[in-house]
Formats: sequence, C-alpha cells, structure tokens
Amino acid sequence: SLTVRDLTVAFDGTVAVDRVDLEVPAGSVTAVLGPSGSGKSTLLRAVAGLESPASGTIRYGDEDLARVPTHRRGFALMFQDGQLFPHQSVARNIGYPLRLRRLPSARIADRIAELLDLVGLAGFGDRTPATLSGGERQRVALARSLAVEPRMLLLDEPLSALDRGLRERLATDLHDILRRAGTTTLLVTHDHEEAFAIADRMAVMRAGRIVQSGDLAEVWAHPTDAWAARFLGYAG
Ligand code: ATP
Ligand code: MG
Repeated sequence: SLTVRDLTVAFDGTVAVDRVDLEVPAGSVTAVLGPSGSGKSTLLRAVAGLESPASGTIRYGDEDLARVPTHRRGFALMFQDGQLFPHQSVARNIGYPLRLRRLPSARIADRIAELLDLVGLAGFGDRTPATLSGGERQRVALARSLAVEPRMLLLDEPLSALDRGLRERLATDLHDILRRAGTTTLLVTHDHEEAFAIADRMAVMRAGRIVQSGDLAEVWAHPTDAWAARFLGYAG
C-alpha cells in the first residue's frame, strides 16, 4: 500500500498540496476527487516522483520513496490523453514498454494478446490509433500502462477527454478491468460520477487539503460540509 504523510508541495508562493495524508491500500482503487486547481495532479505527480515535496513522506510498503527516482518507483502514469505513438499499431504501442525491457518477442506477443483481451480490444492489434475512437484509445493506453505489471497505477483524469455517454460506459469497464488486473490504483478526477463508478475509496480535496476520506459509502453518507455535499453530487 501507498502511504502519504503530511505532504506539502509548493511552487514559489502557491501551496498546491497542503499537509496531505493519504492511504492507498494494496489492491484498492482510491480516487482523489476535487475541483480544478485543488492540487490533484500535483499530488499525483509527487507520488510519481515528478515533483519534489517541500515536506512530508511518501512510502510504498516499507520503502521511503524520497530518494527513489521516478523510473525506479515501478509506477505507471496515465493521463487524460493517453499519448499513443500515432504511427505504430495498437500491438506495437502496447508492446513498447516490453521491448524496452528486451523481453523475448514470443513473450511480448503473448502478453499483448492477454492485455488486448483484458481491455476488451481483442482483434484490434493491427489497427493504428487514428482509426480508433477516443474510448478505444484510452483502453490501449491503459493496456500499455499495465504491460509491465506496475506495482501501482496512477491515473490523471483518464476519461475527461471523452464525451459523457462514453465516459460512463468506460468508467464501468475500467472498474472491472482494474479489479481483474488486481492493481493498486490512485485515480484523480474532478468528476464525482467517475470517482463513484471506478473507485472503492475516496479522498475529497479542496484547496490543497484532503477534507474527507474513507470508503465510498462512508464519504457519500457523511459529507464534511455543504460544499462537499454539493461536490459529491447532492442536489441543490
Ligand atoms: P485540474 O482539475 O484543473 O487538473 P488540479 O487539481 O490537478 O486541477 P494542480 O494542477 O495540481 O490542480 O494545480 C494546483 C495548483 O498548483 C494550481 O493553483 C496551479 O496553478 C499550481 N501549479 C501546478 N503546477 C504548477 C507549476 N509547475 N508551477 C506553478 N504553479 C503550479
Ligand atoms: Mg489536474
């Protein structure tokens, strides 16, 4: 599990992440839900090792990550726009991290088939990204992120570039895919429906602070104040 304690990240003058505590239990999908500018991406980037905290600790299991560089953390990061290689086939895109690790090509081919199946794109291996829908492209990006079996998956608004209907469908699928893959996932989003559809646990972030956290039912049942209630999707 990932444990963040008292984490602060500042950019000259702005405190983007303010004394945050966060727990992502092994095998869980934990969402950080907050409005634009609340510090979600900064928190995720700090976990990935892409921002240096001013103070606080980030641990994975017993390991303090303070001096562990990004590429040694064993985390996969995926953004709103999955950033596929446009001129390579779906299969080559997914196999890219495996080729970097110089796995034998037969193993790579097997793993690609397995991943295509996992994300519901069996038979799509020879297509290029330009011929895919936005949702299909994000599935490919997800398959590529999962290729090397990261010990943790970090998702930054993975569905927000998609239109509403597609977003709902893919959120449900993503829920199932992540459970089947068994990954430990930290997801950040400003969309409460997305968070409720995908996650098991949730932390609500406002102006750099976590104002509330717990499992979904708990957070839903006890919004910390009127602002949180509205943000969680209560009417009015
Ligand atoms: P969004 O939902 O719009 O993606 P967010 O919750 O991900 O928002 P962040 O991107 O983490 O928010 O930004 C939090 C705050 O930190 C904002 O005020 C932002 O302007 C500031 N910030 C983020 N990155 C930098 C940076 N590299 N330099 C200066 N300020 C930054
Ligand atoms: Mg962001």
